[in-house]
Amino acid sequence: MAIDFRGQSAPASEEGMMHVFWLSGMSCDGCSVAMLGASNPSIEDLVLDRVPDLPLVVMHHPMIAEESGAELMAQYSAAGQNQLGAPYILVVEGSIPDDQALSSGAFASMGAGSSAARGRGRATDWIVALAPNAAATIAIGTCATWGGIPAAAGNITRSMSLMDFLGGGYRSSRGLPVVNVPGCAPQGDNFMETLANIMRGLTGNRDMPQFDELGRPAWLFDQTVHVHCPKAGYYEEGIFAEEPGDNECLVEIGCWGPVVQCNIVERGAVNHLGGCMVAGGACIGCTMPGFPDKYSPFYKAPPGSAISGGLTKVTGSAIRRMRLMSMKMANREPIWERAGDGTTAWGRAAGLDSPLERINGKFYKKLQYKGSVNQASRNKLQPQPQSMDILRQKGVDVEASTDVLQEHVITREEL
Ligand code: SF4
Repeated sequence: MAIDFRGQSAPASEEGMMHVFWLSGMSCDGCSVAMLGASNPSIEDLVLDRVPDLPLVVMHHPMIAEESGAELMAQYSAAGQNQLGAPYILVVEGSIPDDQALSSGAFASMGAGSSAARGRGRATDWIVALAPNAAATIAIGTCATWGGIPAAAGNITRSMSLMDFLGGGYRSSRGLPVVNVPGCAPQGDNFMETLANIMRGLTGNRDMPQFDELGRPAWLFDQTVHVHCPKAGYYEEGIFAEEPGDNECLVEIGCWGPVVQCNIVERGAVNHLGGCMVAGGACIGCTMPGFPDKYSPFYKAPPGSAISGGLTKVTGSAIRRMRLMSMKMANREPIWERAGDGTTAWGRAAGLDSPLERINGKFYKKLQYKGSVNQASRNKLQPQPQSMDILRQKGVDVEASTDVLQEHVITREEL
């Protein structure tokens, strides 16, 4: 009998049920935390059967299971022996140590072993026991997907990815290779959405989703960090941070965002909030194969950024200058232009509204309205409001000096 989160005993043969078995290799449990923080759908949605087109999920996870010890592991054994009576998905967090090659001991273990897991509770034994009968096998987090930190240079565990451990010929009982949801820690909703869509595919409620050549959910990892980065505008205009904490684009102090496939910017860390760039951090490539070694040292700029960043500095500064001119023109009410006094008291104090800017504005508008109704010309024909400058009209004495203002006004160029 499996226990679901409603506290009821759920018969393993129940229609419309799917088990999820969670295993940990060389892991910090960050993937588990990410999964628990997901909201679209949440783990509560799945185990409480709140999503209409998904099966009731019975989650077997050592961190959150109601059972413990032998009672918990009995479920894993039953899955390995194909005795559940319902399909299951295997989820592996953490990289896979080379324990199968050791004559004794283990770097990662869970439980005390069983006939299904032929060893002594080693995590690798459980994977060998559960992977063949799993309807789908998902590697969550960069350690399980590509080896990650435990597989970095200098490690003594000879750790590897789940894909490498099971081999390129591995297929689940429903014909799927290992599905990879990378990230250190992964974005929790990336995992839950993938899990949900795989379940829809397995139950026939929808087509199986598409994956890329590395087994990543294609719709989640098809873009680079850079294209959606909140600092991408700085990059385009060639304005770069000089030290961590600066607001500008971080490529010159070690951001790999232009080549890293990850959706943390659009999705945020938890429930659409936070995420590396939103929090001011540079991208260090944590979703990518070869992380961390291929992206270190994290404080150095990627070599390619010298060329792309250098080019952007040249083109970006010209673009920025042109935009500043257009921006000045856009920051005008038509009423001011009709009055021949194209700015505010603040603007006059800052020395804006030069004749050159007015001429530029005229040409810009000509191009803007070419081939359509010239709304700027139409607006010029509007009568001016008669109560403009009402205090002066009524003879109320107002301070016209700009001296004080000058201390408190700052132009766009100075920002
Ligand atoms: Fe691109 Fe990184 Fe700069 Fe963002 S901070 S714009 S990801 S290079």
